[in-house]
Amino acid sequence: MLNLDRPETKFAVDIVRQASQLVKQVQAEMVSPALTKDDRSPVTVADFASQALVGWALKETFPDHPLVGEEDASELRQPIRKLALEQITQFVSRYISQATPEKVCSWIDLGAGKPTKLFWTLDPIDGTKGFLRGDQYAVALALIVEGQVQIGVLGCPNLTEGNQLVAGGKGTLAIAVRGEGAWLTSLEADVDSYQPLLVSDIAIPAQARLLRSLESEHTNISQIDYFAQELEVEIEPVRMDSQAKYVLLAFGKGDLYLRLLSPKQPDYRERIWDQAAGSIIVEEAGGQVSDLHGKALDFTAGRMLLNNRGILASNGLLHSDALQALRAINA
Ligand code: AMP
Ligand code: MG
Repeated sequence: MLNLDRPETKFAVDIVRQASQLVKQVQAEMVSPALTKDDRSPVTVADFASQALVGWALKETFPDHPLVGEEDASELRQPIRKLALEQITQFVSRYISQATPEKVCSWIDLGAGKPTKLFWTLDPIDGTKGFLRGDQYAVALALIVEGQVQIGVLGCPNLTEGNQLVAGGKGTLAIAVRGEGAWLTSLEADVDSYQPLLVSDIAIPAQARLLRSLESEHTNISQIDYFAQELEVEIEPVRMDSQAKYVLLAFGKGDLYLRLLSPKQPDYRERIWDQAAGSIIVEEAGGQVSDLHGKALDFTAGRMLLNNRGILASNGLLHSDALQALRAINA
């Protein structure tokens, strides 16, 4: 059973639930069909509001713990962003009554913490494109101690029964604690039943269900095809935004997750907040996570995984076959 007596674990679950609820409210109230597709205002409001809430809560609960978050408030301090900042403040004030535009900016900027011996890393909305489309996205929070992810929590509002995941239509929360396991529960605030996560037992590469980014620019589509041919994979890859893919893998609903390097950005380095929470959830569910060369993810190199290239995550059983296929196609 998940042990919620540890204050860090309880904090992470509670705040990811709240931040997920907040971004759902922004989506319900701001993302309407009337908005053009490239209108980024809802995602801006939701990203910043989510980071402000988590920044504030971390400061209240663990004042000495640094936060490494994706966003910063410099853009929001520009006069031209006044309206957006007011909207953000209005959403945040539903959770923190003393919120003012200036305070909200300062809570967002708490995300500029230094990645040191112990820190938290936050993606206030991972999969922003999925958020705008009404597809998958996640609030991702992880605690990293001495370069190792210790706690990871993902709030996935759109992972629901339709995806054969957690009961109820309120979305899914996944949590892992190093050495203790990984679990799934509802995003609903008053639910405290946790179901253990366990990866699949598929050991035959041809039967693997692949997971990949929905956005083609975040990966390499033709190489994914070569990879699938190399392993004689029969099933079409599942395309999904955000770290929700890691939850599917941890739940045994997929077997291999690839982040190949986009031909447009061959030198891309993964951001720590995009991989920390998801990777521990898969590892604690019995799976394996490495880069495309089989190297362990190195969370000691600052805000990015500077010493790694791409990501390969698997149920463990398929990892070495997948690495061999990646070598064969020169990925
Ligand atoms: P996904 O939805 O799995 O494609 O992942 C979304 C994340 O991909 C975003 O949070 C971005 O930080 C990240 N991203 C942006 N550009 C790239 C790129 N060229 N390669 C890999 N990931 C990227
Ligand atoms: Mg992200």
